[in-house]
Amino acid sequence: MISNPENFQAILGAPGVTGKTVTDLPEDGLKEFIQSTIYKNQELKEPFYVLDLGVVISIMNKWTRTLPAVRPFYAVKCNPDPSFLGALAALGASFDCASRAEIESVLSLGVSPDRIIFANPCKFESHIKYAARVGVNLTTFDSQTEIEKIRKHHPKCDLLIRVKSPDDSGARCPLGPKYGALPEEVEPLLQAAQDAQLSVLGVSFHIGSGATYSSAYEGAIAAAKAIFDSASRLGMPKMHVLNIGGGFTAGPNFDDAANIVKSAIQTYFLDEPGLTIISEPGRFFAESAFTLATNIIGKRVRGELREYWINDGVYGSMNCILYDHAILNATPFVGSGNGGDHTRHDAKTYSSTVFGPTCDALDTVLTDYRLPELQVNDWLVFPNMGAYTAAAGSNFNGFNTSAISTHLVYSNSKLTR
Ligand SMILES: *Cc1c(COP(=O)(O)O)cnc(C)c1O
Repeated sequence: MISNPENFQAILGAPGVTGKTVTDLPEDGLKEFIQSTIYKNQELKEPFYVLDLGVVISIMNKWTRTLPAVRPFYAVKCNPDPSFLGALAALGASFDCASRAEIESVLSLGVSPDRIIFANPCKFESHIKYAARVGVNLTTFDSQTEIEKIRKHHPKCDLLIRVKSPDDSGARCPLGPKYGALPEEVEPLLQAAQDAQLSVLGVSFHIGSGATYSSAYEGAIAAAKAIFDSASRLGMPKMHVLNIGGGFTAGPNFDDAANIVKSAIQTYFLDEPGLTIISEPGRFFAESAFTLATNIIGKRVRGELREYWINDGVYGSMNCILYDHAILNATPFVGSGNGGDHTRHDAKTYSSTVFGPTCDALDTVLTDYRLPELQVNDWLVFPNMGAYTAAAGSNFNGFNTSAISTHLVYSNSKLTR
């Protein structure tokens, strides 16, 4: 059942998608699609991504249903794939950009500049000038020098003060060590912004990426309310924007996090009727929309241990193991010329190591992972590879992550989830 055919039509016409082949998949058709792509790919055997636009629609629906009062600005750094950005734009998302290039890529989709927040508290001067030129008029800051740069190069820009979240201890990637004003720094910064005749519309925080304790939102929202009150005490214009940042995951944690956010806003912002609430989800939107298929290019047997080499790794898409503390899962697929029978694998599994292609031992993707006996030219397929993967890959050793192609599919069964 297609519950939102109009959304799908909008995506098909989106920049970044239009003109590309989008394969319609039956329910649970992803496996068959990957298997058939593997067969078609038999010459090159290059790794490839599959982006499921049906998942993008269902995730956007999930957000809108669960947090209708919170406007999402997708954090582009998480995955800047042009088709993905185009699909999100067509579904009405706004965007969190951190650099000139990110702003350019979002504007090139036809997104208007008022759907962009330049949410980097420490920006290149040249990028601030660029934002001023193209009309991106909302940014964050957490230092005096940033106020000075903005005053000089983009004085009409509205500001959100980025504050350190009181608790990001449960996050996979805490951001507190780098960003966010400390409680005692907030009033002097607000005062400095006022002296510079800049307008501070509200407060922004990030509880850390891949947050495990959703309760962190509550403490941060309470702290934000205290800052709204400080601003009033300082005689500043009334604050009216609350930016709750990212940190969401698409799994069962999301409902929990959303409930905590809603109830904290009820508790602390009940007397702020004109409040605009925005968010900067990255992982929530990107993670489950992408699947990565990699080819086994080498094998070594050492007793019971099986060792495999695949053609993407830690210097490519799997940099998430280092930077994002990700733990990956893989499913084997039979390669062309290896029998072709999807069920060939017998039940016996071996402790296996899976290496990436570069000549660095750090380039290890899976260790002590149970896999059936596989052969060179079989494939390993990694689900949930959309967040902080290809975005931060390199060309180290001549293996070029940015050249990995992305196949677009649409599994409409996901719409009923
Ligand atoms: C990285 C980042 C995000 C996205 O965080 P997720 O945990 O992926 O949702 C949002 N806002 C800012 C300022 C960021 O740096």
